[in-house]
Amino acid sequence: MSDPQSQGRILLKKGRDKIVRQRHPWVFSGAIQTVERDPQPGEIVSVFNAGGDFLAQGFYNPNSQIQLRLLTDQKVTIDSDFFRERLRQAIAFRDQEVPYQARRLVHAEADGLPGLVVDQYGDCLSLQFSALGMSLQRERILEILQDELQPRLIVERSESPSLKLEGMQPFKGIVAGSGEAYTEIVENGARFAIDLLEGQKTGFFVDQRDSRALIGKLAAGKRLLNCFSYSGGFSLLAALQGATTTSVEISAAAQDLARQNFSLNGIDLTNHRFETANVFDYLRELDSQYDVMVLDPPAFMKRQKDLQKGSRAYQDINRLAIKQSLPNGLILSCSCSHYLSWDLFQKVVFSAALEAGRSVQIVQRLGQPLDHPVSLFHPEGEYLKAFLLRVL
Ligand code: SAH
Repeated sequence: MSDPQSQGRILLKKGRDKIVRQRHPWVFSGAIQTVERDPQPGEIVSVFNAGGDFLAQGFYNPNSQIQLRLLTDQKVTIDSDFFRERLRQAIAFRDQEVPYQARRLVHAEADGLPGLVVDQYGDCLSLQFSALGMSLQRERILEILQDELQPRLIVERSESPSLKLEGMQPFKGIVAGSGEAYTEIVENGARFAIDLLEGQKTGFFVDQRDSRALIGKLAAGKRLLNCFSYSGGFSLLAALQGATTTSVEISAAAQDLARQNFSLNGIDLTNHRFETANVFDYLRELDSQYDVMVLDPPAFMKRQKDLQKGSRAYQDINRLAIKQSLPNGLILSCSCSHYLSWDLFQKVVFSAALEAGRSVQIVQRLGQPLDHPVSLFHPEGEYLKAFLLRVL
């Protein structure tokens, strides 16, 4: 239990409390004046302005660039009940508005739980910690999640390379429950197999649910080229609507998963191709024409300094796809790079269209689904963007 009376105290430099007053949950090292009572890395501390007025409480980590991750601007005791209330609020919203078997229950800062992501896959949960302070609350969080949801199994997938910067060790494994780290879910009528330990990310790209449903409709009865296809999600939703599909993916293991998902849905593979290839090469030598294309690459920019190189990569695949498009063809072009803003992404697609020599319309923009909210006070939580393009 952390009691505001006895815990460590952090005083901010004069004039550096603005960001806290603006409710941003992160405080960087440069804003800190003094640290009192010797708080240990990951402990909960109270934060004060230069005049000594209480501002907030949060996790302290002297080893991180982000030295404070704020939890509340109230002088409350931060105990199990505090975390239970936050988790309940996050879960209640999903129960009400996101009635899917695969969904994000907790989206970190946006749900007032910095450094914690919880994904639900049917009877299993998958946790990711990305802040030391939150990871020290692991036992508490597990107990609450078990109490509230009675999952069969909970796995942890805290594997991001940025953990090193937090002074955390990567960890992957079963943390509660028993049985196989495998489950199946249904998303808009499509069945998916999910390998919670060996699958990419936390086993499934739950954030593309709405886009997959949209492509399912738009490609019904047509020809779909699904680039960066992972476990075949976009292809599967379209195939169930009678589309002919080609899935292009660099990982052979992911292609096996995609075929497995098609079989799980009883789809005959005759009209479906699974190409294990690099999309950049594949698009250059495209041997068929498609009515609808999907570009859903991994984040080409993981840091601000990748901006130029990453933009070039987005521009390349968009140029190639636009160039190869049939007249009136549709392209769903996605980016999951936080650093590629909407504005810049649109400029990248503009340059790609110019280079391809085609007229292109934006017919729809898609962002994060309901279960991946973004706090207005923490715009860093926004990453997913997509343009539905029509190529003339
Ligand atoms: N659209 C998918 C998620 C895509 S994740 C879904 O709805 O589930 C991005 C995928 O791109 C990963 O599976 C990764 O293995 C693959 N990938 C990364 N670089 C690639 C490349 N150059 N060519 C083809 N696939 C690539």
